[in-house]
Amino acid sequence: MTVLAEPHSSLEQARILAKAAAFAPPSPRMEDGRLDLVGLSRTELESEIREIGEQPFRARQLWHWIYHHGVRNFSECSNIAKPLQQRFSERFVISRPEVVAVEQSSDGTKKFLMRFRDGQMAETVYIPDLEDARGTVCVSSQIGCTLSCRFCHTGTQKLVRNLSAAEIVGQFMALRDFYGEWPTPQGGTPRLLSNIVFMGMGEPLYNYENVAKALRILMDGEGIGLSRRRITLSTAGVVPVMQRVGEELGVNLAVSLHAVRDSLRDELVPLNRKYPLAQLIEACRRYPGASNARRITFEYVMLRDVNDSEADAKELVRLIKGIPCKVNLIPFNPWPGSSFAPSTPEALERFAEIIMAAGYAAPVRMPRGADILAACGQLRTACGRARRADAEAKNIYCSSPFASPASASEGSIQPMLPSLRR
Ligand code: SAH
Repeated sequence: MTVLAEPHSSLEQARILAKAAAFAPPSPRMEDGRLDLVGLSRTELESEIREIGEQPFRARQLWHWIYHHGVRNFSECSNIAKPLQQRFSERFVISRPEVVAVEQSSDGTKKFLMRFRDGQMAETVYIPDLEDARGTVCVSSQIGCTLSCRFCHTGTQKLVRNLSAAEIVGQFMALRDFYGEWPTPQGGTPRLLSNIVFMGMGEPLYNYENVAKALRILMDGEGIGLSRRRITLSTAGVVPVMQRVGEELGVNLAVSLHAVRDSLRDELVPLNRKYPLAQLIEACRRYPGASNARRITFEYVMLRDVNDSEADAKELVRLIKGIPCKVNLIPFNPWPGSSFAPSTPEALERFAEIIMAAGYAAPVRMPRGADILAACGQLRTACGRARRADAEAKNIYCSSPFASPASASEGSIQPMLPSLRR
């Protein structure tokens, strides 16, 4: 019998944090000794400012310039005298990831390939709302992934490293630069970049510290000021960290469920062997702040004859009973080498009906940006395993823009993203 780790023990949390530290991002200190101010918490920024003998109010001014106005040069900070601007620029930088490729779909969805300081890359996607002038930014939290979910092409790329808070916030800021959405729109002014989902490459809860730090910056009212209601964190079920997300960040939670029995979920989402369904569902029940107004989203990839039977739908309803939630049904996107097929439209419909009859919303989420699937090429590779996958993936429909380094050039859009438009 397998002995499972007690999911909430501090030991288990410490183990997760220690593992994250082993995949730490590069330091915020440049090779020339200057420090990147993006990604520092307010307190850290203040102490850096104090350290060079300046008044704490300068930190507040800088914060406003960086996150409200989106400046990249200290020379633009007009309420700071020239000599001090000069001092700042000798010691600090205001970074951005470099956008090295942009792919455009006819529906307006855009994929951005971002290169970070150490040359590593990840993708960020902008999905505009089809009716209103707003849209969702989908960010990556890691380069690669450790989870190896069977239906997900990311399983072909091992984890390279975690992204830093600067790199996570930077993905959003680089898109703000691209769309010219500076200064941060105030009050009820509509925003083009109105929502964020952590559904890119990686498992955000295995990079919790950096993700949390990034979120605090994104939510800060004197800067980007995104409401927590417009932020969704998606997890495959890192149970020991889920509670912290609710308590410390209060953002929306999406859970990649995909199967309703341990035997199957063990196969599809191997993380289930560590944190099985009973623990996962219990963590959802306890998720702080979940209510009918703030429902948990269960993501469910519909795999033909694997997890799409009526019995599965009924078991799903039984499992989620009493949890304020909705279920996003995602037609599976096949990729080369994958052994699954998408469910038939009839199976999808039947499945959705059963869930809806039990009183839950169960929208079927169709892909956006489908027309850029055919755009192939190889923009980057990260490891031998991924290179092989790149080669196999050429010209073939693949699962998500984050599926593998290859997908950077192959160009499909993760299907559940539009579902998170509000
Ligand atoms: N690691 C986190 C965040 C990544 S989001 C998580 O698992 O939630 C990844 C999402 O992409 C998963 O929920 C899954 O629903 C979706 N996905 C991955 N491969 C897919 C595929 N081939 N077809 C449909 N959805 C897929």
